[in-house]
Amino acid sequence: MGGWGLIAQERAVAALERALREGRVAHAYLFVGPERVGKRTLALKVAQALNCERPSAHGEPVEPCGECAPCRRIAGGIHADVQTVSVEEGEEGSQKGIHVSQIREVERSAALKPFEGRSRFVIIDPAEEMNAAAQNAFLKTLEEPPPQVVFALVTADESRLLPTIRSRCRRLELRLPAVAEVEDALAANGVEAERARLLARLSRGRIGWALEAADDASLLERRGELLSQARALASMTVAQRLDLAERLAPDFKRRPEALFAALGAWRDWWRDVLLVRAGAEDGVANVDRLAELREDATRYARPGVAEFVQAVGEAGRNLQENAQPRLVLETLLLGAPRAAEPARR
Ligand SMILES: [Zn+2]
Repeated sequence: MGGWGLIAQERAVAALERALREGRVAHAYLFVGPERVGKRTLALKVAQALNCERPSAHGEPVEPCGECAPCRRIAGGIHADVQTVSVEEGEEGSQKGIHVSQIREVERSAALKPFEGRSRFVIIDPAEEMNAAAQNAFLKTLEEPPPQVVFALVTADESRLLPTIRSRCRRLELRLPAVAEVEDALAANGVEAERARLLARLSRGRIGWALEAADDASLLERRGELLSQARALASMTVAQRLDLAERLAPDFKRRPEALFAALGAWRDWWRDVLLVRAGAEDGVANVDRLAELREDATRYARPGVAEFVQAVGEAGRNLQENAQPRLVLETLLLGAPRAAEPARR
């Protein structure tokens, strides 16, 4: 697909087009924004624009054509000068994150001339996963950036990056699109109207998720299972809760994204219950399960539910900070709402 092809990111795109047109592309960019709004997609488009072979006439918008050989190779992830650094699948028990050895490898290749294109492009995603040693090593690279290399740091949490790294990058903020914008984009992609409306609503602006879910029905199915689990927590006995914590804890090492998806579903479900209790049904995320949400809203007391919603957020943060997953999950699950609790209204 040619052009920038991103919805709701006009500001970031305009800044990039200006830099490309004026030949003033920065050595390093920081793509900041919530999950799944298109940060990495935009970074790859910049890599394409920098290496695109379609001649652009003076005054024409500067954007990747998407069709020439370099554009295609970059989209396919096989361009020799475009490199992505990410968290490597570690061995069981090894420390997570982006390691200093990966940054040293980047330094080595960044010092070389571009192999097939005009400029080397290094994407670090998620940049905040660089550990302390990796960030310090990367800072040195940024202080004396090699020519013909552009770094793109992709992050949903810039507060975890050294201020000295941030200050050396040009910051581009991507915003969360409105639900209506996602709905329009899905419709433009040929998704049938009713399904587009539901997916847009469920996505809460995460266009990447919405497009993926439109393509892959199993994503919605999986979401349905997680929501049912979120709901079932309330009728579990103490033993069942401890058992669930024990079963989920190993996921943190093996498939952290699966565990975080479960936590997200628990939080979303119970936040929706709070919204229905408060008479704010318009705001619920899980619009397709209103009947069950209404049932739960009459069944569970507000304080317990509100505490749990907050506790899920805290549990997520504790896990990021490498707390013991089993302990975190046990504490969280023991505090989940309980069916026996009489509703206080
Ligand atoms: Zn091109």
